[in-house]
Amino acid sequence: MTTPTSTVPAELLRMTRLIGVPAHNLVVVGEGNTSMRVDADSFWIKCSGRGMHEIDERGFVQIAFAPILDLFDSDLSADALQTAMMDARVDPSGARPSVEVTFHASVLHGCAVNYIGHTHPLAVNGILCSTRAEQFAKNRLFPDEAVLCGPESVFVPYTDPGLPLARAIRDQVRLYMDQYEEAPKVILLQNHGLIVVGNTAQEILNVTAMCVKAAGIFTGACAVGEPVFMSREDIMHIYKRPDEIYRRQLFVG
Ligand SMILES: [Zn+2]
Repeated sequence: MTTPTSTVPAELLRMTRLIGVPAHNLVVVGEGNTSMRVDADSFWIKCSGRGMHEIDERGFVQIAFAPILDLFDSDLSADALQTAMMDARVDPSGARPSVEVTFHASVLHGCAVNYIGHTHPLAVNGILCSTRAEQFAKNRLFPDEAVLCGPESVFVPYTDPGLPLARAIRDQVRLYMDQYEEAPKVILLQNHGLIVVGNTAQEILNVTAMCVKAAGIFTGACAVGEPVFMSREDIMHIYKRPDEIYRRQLFVG
């Protein structure tokens, strides 16, 4: 039995408010969502429809992993799914979780990470809504993009939000982890947005910022010609260099 945690962690609140700063162009109105693992049994997630910039403790709900992970093998109707998500609240008086609670549970659990930040950044979505979406996800343009965002991003073709999208993300993340033997840092959803996965709140903020910068550079490179990507060899070399691993550890806090 999972016991309720009394307060929403300050780091989750800080990260969510910073993501929501309007000038960052990452989310508007109630877009996007954040989550943080409490322990092996439960996690906090933003409630459905809450804006991020001025969010407070009432904007989050604690959810048990097990009943949400069980949904991946179920064949429930839409109404039954909604009920099951509400039943997964650790405190039954909590508000409704984000509709994306399924992918948060699956990624926190499957990648064994502590934080997720999901946004719809202007610069990134301009690419994800174009024919170059997968090209952006699979390549790297400059060393710090490779160091912080990983050797490539997981790319998920457009899928209906909710459980179908959560299943598609789970499948693509597994393929990435089979190839690289570690969790991805960035997941890009075609025609939808960005998911950043990490172990600290600062890592989520830093990787989100670097992915947005990479999106601006990619768009600029496409505007003046064809982007020139780093070679696979150069990407893996810089990603695994001891001095760059040291810098990455400093960046993620
Ligand atoms: Zn979204």
